[in-house]
Amino acid sequence: MSLHLDPTEDDFVTTMALHPRDISEEQLRKFEGYVGEIFRAFGMDVTDPGTALTPRRYIRALLDATDGYEGDPKLLTVFETECREGPDCRSSQVIEGPIPFFSLCEHHVLPFHGRAYVGYIPHEHIIGLSKLTRLVRLFAKRFTLQERVGREIADGLEAMLQPHGVAVYLEAQHLCVQMRGVREEAPYTKTTHWRGLYDAEPALRAEFMAACGIRR
Ligand SMILES: [Zn+2]
Ligand SMILES: [Zn+2]
Repeated sequence: MSLHLDPTEDDFVTTMALHPRDISEEQLRKFEGYVGEIFRAFGMDVTDPGTALTPRRYIRALLDATDGYEGDPKLLTVFETECREGPDCRSSQVIEGPIPFFSLCEHHVLPFHGRAYVGYIPHEHIIGLSKLTRLVRLFAKRFTLQERVGREIADGLEAMLQPHGVAVYLEAQHLCVQMRGVREEAPYTKTTHWRGLYDAEPALRAEFMAACGIRR
């Protein structure tokens, strides 16, 4: 049976409701003018046919890359499980990954991108596997930080499902670091977030990492 979450009940569920950004066409054209001015000053020939529309494309791409702020109402529907604290209630992990994600670092507005692995141990509610991808994108497609994306995914899943545990592993490359660096091999930044049973039981964390194929 499906159940509709009440967005007024919890801050993280609130963030999933629809919040269209109120940006008019007139504002967008003004922003295109600003970035055109910057690109021109920095050296771009904005009169070339290939770049004439670049400021416009850039603003639209930035808007699209940050549409996590607009919420995702499809995340508000969850499903009931059979779990009523029976003996096998806390035994099974649901794991999804790798889920590719792209974010913009809030310090430089340059991309960091990589893969997310999300696991949970259901109690009374589950969500469809595709929803885990939506949940990752909801928090990734913003001006943010890797650590925050991981924490928000974990907190969001807890708020939605009240599961027995949540595990989130992210590995990402940060262009703001790479573009200024001298290393040929780009390092991955890895972050983990554990909630509930994962926090308490190292064996569950090991099982999650092994299931994701992650060696550390
Ligand atoms: Zn940065
Ligand atoms: Zn349970």
